[in-house]
Amino acid sequence: MRPDQAFTALAEAIKFHGAPVCQEIDGELWFPEIGGGHVAEAKKLCQECPVKNECLQFALANDEQYGIWGGLSVRERMRLKSKGRTTSRRQ
Ligand code: SF4
Repeated sequence: MRPDQAFTALAEAIKFHGAPVCQEIDGELWFPEIGGGHVAEAKKLCQECPVKNECLQFALANDEQYGIWGGLSVRERMRLKSKGRTTSRRQ
């Protein structure tokens, strides 16, 4: 998915479902790199988020290098992305 498509999908999902929980709680929670250090709590909150899938697609499309997006850390997103590349090469 292209970054602009991912942005539109996320914006539409937020419009439909309302503001995600990370917009209403201390944002540092989702960015352990800047000292928040609450990865488990952030991931748990993401699991309840109605825009989780769109959020993850946005992060993947934009190669987000920081933070928890869609319930996944940057390392988990990189693994998911490389797994997708491997799978698509095999098809
Ligand atoms: S899934 Fe994305 S939008 Fe939802 S709480 Fe987590 S980081 Fe925020």
